[in-house]
Amino acid sequence: MPVTVPLSRLRGSGRYRTAATRAVAVTAVVASSLTALAAADPDVDSALAGSPVANAALESDAPFTAFTPREAQMPQVVPQPVLEFLAGLHAEQNRPKTVRPVAGPLTSGFGVRWGAMHAGIDFGDGFGTPIRAVTDGTVIEAGPASGFGLWVRVMQDDGTIGVYGHMQDILVQVGQQLKAGDVLATVGNRGYSTGPHLHYEVHAGEGAPIDPLPWLAGRGMDVGAPVD
Ligand SMILES: [Zn+2]
Repeated sequence: MPVTVPLSRLRGSGRYRTAATRAVAVTAVVASSLTALAAADPDVDSALAGSPVANAALESDAPFTAFTPREAQMPQVVPQPVLEFLAGLHAEQNRPKTVRPVAGPLTSGFGVRWGAMHAGIDFGDGFGTPIRAVTDGTVIEAGPASGFGLWVRVMQDDGTIGVYGHMQDILVQVGQQLKAGDVLATVGNRGYSTGPHLHYEVHAGEGAPIDPLPWLAGRGMDVGAPVD
């Protein structure tokens, strides 16, 4: 049932002068909400006794809690397993997908060096330093290899193969799943090596090695320029 509200009863010139409140017909929706207000607040109840229902609504300073759905007034409790699932999703989305394998400086770049092809990049670092997986991937080979001393080959997340060489100790096994940053070996001096360092190659599939530096840069990682 519409209720007529005289414009003269609308107080002030601020919030009550909006298009919505200038409407003189208050609908049954408001009227029913006022009923809920009155039930919740005795002061509103008494105000309603001496004036039209709609005027009470406009002149009362009672909070509009009666307009808030009952569900929204209740504390929202998210089950712990859901929280943990969401936290896991967040962590997965935000963890790095490309990790520098060791902190040591880049000591050699990719290309011909001393008259021979250097098919990867070298990082100098201390003997026994943990070597971290550059990307997510799967270990496809781990063990002795000519020239490398020991190597680990990883099928990387983009289909390239990462090759790590000269390690002192291998800490992973074939078939093992790696996440970027997982420790897979330690820095050594095995094979054709003149001091402890990590040799790292990237092969496009089973094909030829590619320069790891632009490949790393394409993944947002700048490992610096070779120092020699
Ligand atoms: Zn090398």
